[in-house]
Amino acid sequence: MENNVFLIATHNMKKRDELYRILSPLGIDVKTAEQAGIEISDVDETGETFYENAFLKANSGCLESGMPCVADDSGLAVDYLVGAPGVFSARFAGEHGNDAKNNQKLLKILSDVPVEERTAKFVSVVCCVFPNGDVISARGECKGYIGFEPKGDGGFGYDPIFMVGDKSFAELSGEEKDALSHRGNALRQIAEKLKDYMSL
Ligand code: IMP
Repeated sequence: MENNVFLIATHNMKKRDELYRILSPLGIDVKTAEQAGIEISDVDETGETFYENAFLKANSGCLESGMPCVADDSGLAVDYLVGAPGVFSARFAGEHGNDAKNNQKLLKILSDVPVEERTAKFVSVVCCVFPNGDVISARGECKGYIGFEPKGDGGFGYDPIFMVGDKSFAELSGEEKDALSHRGNALRQIAEKLKDYMSL
């Protein structure tokens, strides 16, 4: 695998840090676009599933860079909302990537909902596209529930209101989050699949 460098296709710096932090120690050599000295375009996430969007991002990054490219598409599925916001998680409150507004909106909708009905899960689909057209993907999930107020200042997105036990994701260290998270789970599967693929 030594000669294969993977491009990480994301403009979300926190997510990029997670991908880098999890994949590097697994022996996968990953570079951000900045580290590779290239620019990659923003991709319209027009897919209806996490897989479609992860593939769109990884495929576009691969085509533009000529490098194998890894991308994640992820989101929050709230049981009380029958799986919403799902693929629309980043733009739940209208404006793409406004985490504070997304969290406020969700807390408001669930304001009278008791704790036992606040169950939710994070989902991550990671996709890796190779210049020869091969595709490797994996899906990870993490179950928890939505808290009643934001807690902690780590992480990003819905982390301050996503609870596992009595702590929010935003109260965990990066390594603690990786050990439990949907993305950590999907990336560990990807690392195993990549090892098999690369030794073919
Ligand atoms: P994406 O960048 O299009 O995959 O959008 C993912 C959105 O889902 C983010 O903007 C967050 O709102 C949410 N999300 C995904 N993963 C996480 C996570 O690990 N913590 C908190 N929010 C997340």
